[in-house]
Amino acid sequence: MVTVERVEAIPVSYREPTDHNRFRSVCLVKITDTDGRTGWGEGCAYFPEATLATARIVEGMAPLVVGQNPLQTEAIWHRLKDHSWWYGTGAGIASIAISGIDIALWDLKGKQLGASVLDLLGGPVRDALPAIASLHGTHESIDAMAEEIAAHTATGLQGAKVGFGKAGNAHLGFDEARDLAFVEAVQAAMGPGKDLMIDLGVRNFWDVPTAIRRARAFEERGVAWLEEPLGHDDPAGYAALRAATGIRIAYGEREWNARGVQRIVETGTVDVVGLDPGRVEGITGFRKAAEICALNRRQANAHNFSTAIVGAASQALSFACPACHVLELQPVYGPAQKDLVDRPVWHTKGYVNRPDGPGLGIEIDEDLVASARLDR
Ligand SMILES: [Mg+2]
Repeated sequence: MVTVERVEAIPVSYREPTDHNRFRSVCLVKITDTDGRTGWGEGCAYFPEATLATARIVEGMAPLVVGQNPLQTEAIWHRLKDHSWWYGTGAGIASIAISGIDIALWDLKGKQLGASVLDLLGGPVRDALPAIASLHGTHESIDAMAEEIAAHTATGLQGAKVGFGKAGNAHLGFDEARDLAFVEAVQAAMGPGKDLMIDLGVRNFWDVPTAIRRARAFEERGVAWLEEPLGHDDPAGYAALRAATGIRIAYGEREWNARGVQRIVETGTVDVVGLDPGRVEGITGFRKAAEICALNRRQANAHNFSTAIVGAASQALSFACPACHVLELQPVYGPAQKDLVDRPVWHTKGYVNRPDGPGLGIEIDEDLVASARLDR
C-alpha cells in the first residue's frame, strides 16, 4: 500500500500587491508518499509568528500522518482533530495547521487516483461559476479608484468586492458622504450588470446605529452585500442590523470550523458565510461548513485571498458545494497567486475556469517557494 512518507511544513512570506505590498505569511505543507508523489496544502496564518507556530504544530502532527493511507482524508482529519483536543478546542492555530495538512492530502489523493479534487468531492453542482474581483481601496481620489476597479471588471469579472479601512489613503469606511460617493462612482464606472460588495476592515469601527445608516444607504444603491460591518462576532448587533435593513450581511471568514459556522448561522443574521479553506480545517472542514450553509439556505463564499494553492482549493470547492455561488479572484498581479503554480485559477469572460486534475491540478514552483521561506 502507498502510504505517507513525509510531511513538511514550509513557512513562507511574500508581498501582497492587493494589500499595499504588505508582507503576508502562510504555512505551506508538502506531503510526499512512498511512490514519490507530492501533495501541497496551505494554512492561512497571515502573520509571521502565527505562521511559524503553525509550522511547529504541523511538524508535531506529522507522526499522525506518516505511514497512513493518504486516500483516507476523513479518517486522518478526525485523528488530527482528536489529537489537538486541548489546544484546538473550538478554535485556534490547530485549525490552520489541520487545514494545511488536509488540503495537501486531498491533492495527493487526487494524484494517486488520477482524479481531480473536484471529482473526488462529487463533481460540479453547477455548469458556470461567476467570478468577481477581490480588491482593496487604494487611492485618495475616488475617481481614480472607480476607474481602476472598472478596468478590472471590464475584463469580464462580474463585479467587485472592495475592502474598506485598509492601508494607504483611500480612507473608506470612516465618513458616510465619502463612502456613498465611492459606491456611486464605482457603480457608474463599472456600468450596469456588475455587482459591488463592500467589506469592512478591522480599522473601521462602526457601532450599530452607524452600521444601520450605512447599510440602508448601501441597500438603496443596490450594494450586493455588506461584509463584517460589525466585525466577526456581535450576535445582538447583527440582529438589530438585520431587523433594520434588507441588505445581505456577510461574515464568517474568521470562524475556525463547522461548529462556529453553525453557531453564526443559527443567529439568523448572516446571509453570506465567508469560509477560508486555509483556516476552516481544510477541504474537509470547508465542505462540512458549506453543507451547513446549504441546509440553511445561506450562501457560502470562499475567502480566496492567499496563494494559488488556496485558490485551487477554493476553485474546486466552489464548483462542488451547492452553497457557493461566486468565486472571488485577485486581478492585481501577484507572484503568490500567479507564478507559484503552473495553472493559477482564472476566469473566461467572467466565469471561473473549471479545475482539472489530477489533485488540485497545479504544479508548484519549488524554487519560488524556497526563495520565500520565512525561516531561511
Ligand atoms: Mg472579508
